[in-house]
Amino acid sequence: MGNSDIVTSTVPPAIPDDRLRDLARRRMFFLDRDGTLTLAERKLPFVDEFLATLRATDRKLFVLTNNSSKSPRRHFENFRRMGLDLREEEVLVSIQPALAFLRAEGATRLHLVANAEVTEYVRSEGFDPAADDPQAVLLTYDTEIHYGKLLALVAHLRRGVPYYATHVDVVCPTPDGPVPDIGTTIRTIEMTLGLLPIRTFGKPAHEFVRPTLDAHGLGFGDAVVIGDRLYTDLELASGTDMLSILVLTGETTRAAHDQSAVKADIVVPDLGALLPWLE
Ligand SMILES: [Mg+2]
Repeated sequence: MGNSDIVTSTVPPAIPDDRLRDLARRRMFFLDRDGTLTLAERKLPFVDEFLATLRATDRKLFVLTNNSSKSPRRHFENFRRMGLDLREEEVLVSIQPALAFLRAEGATRLHLVANAEVTEYVRSEGFDPAADDPQAVLLTYDTEIHYGKLLALVAHLRRGVPYYATHVDVVCPTPDGPVPDIGTTIRTIEMTLGLLPIRTFGKPAHEFVRPTLDAHGLGFGDAVVIGDRLYTDLELASGTDMLSILVLTGETTRAAHDQSAVKADIVVPDLGALLPWLE
């Protein structure tokens, strides 16, 4: 794709171009959370109208969050508390495809690096999160990480236990600014042992969305991904014919997008700018 199309909420283009017409025909929407639907635990402008329009026009929607420091149920409860009209099955978290993969591999004895809440969730899914002889190491965004956990992780990896991580994000946005996410631990391990995860499961891994498309009999060409982060949300669309939309309500500026190798098909200031093309 060439240069992105700029649309503003206040002055929509008089004639929709090919990409906006393409948007209008798509049936499944994968939405990022932080910086796209919410910021600092609050709904961003136009979110209610946007979700209502998708539902009124019989489109499917899913929120994709890489943040594996909360269980899927907790993410859903947070959305409801913020007043977002979502159903529990519409919230997809990176740990879900990770556990589905491990289960399919027959790896239920894990060395899990996770906080207490997520450890309990993993246990409730039928895994042993602290096996003496783990079949796999699974790293999550552990908000209770400490040096002893790093030592135990390194010990298992030195013994050659297969190493997986739920996602790749380096920082997590907060109202006060970015804080270290899982990617900083991945880099710590890389600097210590020269090892990277065999596989990751959140955005931009296509495995995060493919089962959902399959379940609805749809393909990448029916789908749209909307987000604020280039190397996860927008990268998810690369190598597919998903339509990618960058919203400028989060961490990426117009200038950063223009300088990036990862380009969105459409760039908009906010979700409101898309509303005219979804009716
Ligand atoms: Mg985001």
